[in-house]
Amino acid sequence: ATPTALLVGTGRGAELGVLIKGPEILESTRRIDTVVLDKTGTVTTGKATLVDVTPSGRLTPTAALQAAASVEAGSEHPVAQAIVRAAQQRGIELRPISDFTNLPGMGARATIKGTEVTVGKASLFDVVPGDLESLDRVGTTVHVGWGGVAYAALTVADEVRPTSPASLEALRDLGLRTMLLTGDNKRTARQVAEEVGINPADVIAEVLPSDKHEAIARLQREGRVVAMVGDGVNDAAALAQADLGLAMGSGTDVAMDSADIVLVRPEIGAVADAIGLSRRTLAIVK
Ligand code: ADP
Ligand code: MG
Repeated sequence: ATPTALLVGTGRGAELGVLIKGPEILESTRRIDTVVLDKTGTVTTGKATLVDVTPSGRLTPTAALQAAASVEAGSEHPVAQAIVRAAQQRGIELRPISDFTNLPGMGARATIKGTEVTVGKASLFDVVPGDLESLDRVGTTVHVGWGGVAYAALTVADEVRPTSPASLEALRDLGLRTMLLTGDNKRTARQVAEEVGINPADVIAEVLPSDKHEAIARLQREGRVVAMVGDGVNDAAALAQADLGLAMGSGTDVAMDSADIVLVRPEIGAVADAIGLSRRTLAIVK
């Protein structure tokens, strides 16, 4: 391939809304056979909204939301931001916190007036009362509690980007296998997969941030040439591990630094455009 033709390809990429970090990247793009997509903030908007607060026992929904939001004020996670926004919209004042700890892929913890309050996955609690455990809500449900006991469930719902179903269809039209990779629970992951036409067998859920790159490596060991599309700090290692990393320009700086291609528009339509472009560019120079 002549460098000039490749550079023309990268220039055309800028027009399509993809920033390709170097002309040599087009070569690896061409060989991709599998596209793995992060769920939150990539296939979905990542702008979750709080849709339900269910306390267990005597706690009021307001008190539950106040405790959860006060802790989450220290976190940048989409779930956290949804909880904080909901409290602000309801005029609930946040309590001062100390000793904030982020628990990546799990939740967050902080001390409010001498009590350590935890928000996040059920597995962070020793006791989840039956009425909270059996809650059947569409979305991502997290708990808030202290002393090892969960006292309320909060559900946030995140919407699939309106363009995602067509964007994934375009990838499959190119003969690529599409897969979903997420730290979220299996049920929510499958719901999103169904909305965008991903096979339930191609959903990898409940993956800790530290294990996302290992999921990519496993596919590579199976002989697949993998592109990873993500937006978060938790995707950075997976983006670097993949044969081709694509980051949402709307995402975190760490994700963009780890990627080969940055998607300028806040949607994933350009992934198929970039792969199609690289195939065409290399067909011309051959
Ligand atoms: P994704 O892979 O979809 O971007 P993450 O790995 O960041 O998701 O998070 C996975 C799950 O961990 C979330 O769906 C949520 O249940 C829980 N979680 C992570 N961070 C927080 C937080 N700050 N507050 C509450 N729950 C959280
Ligand atoms: Mg994400």
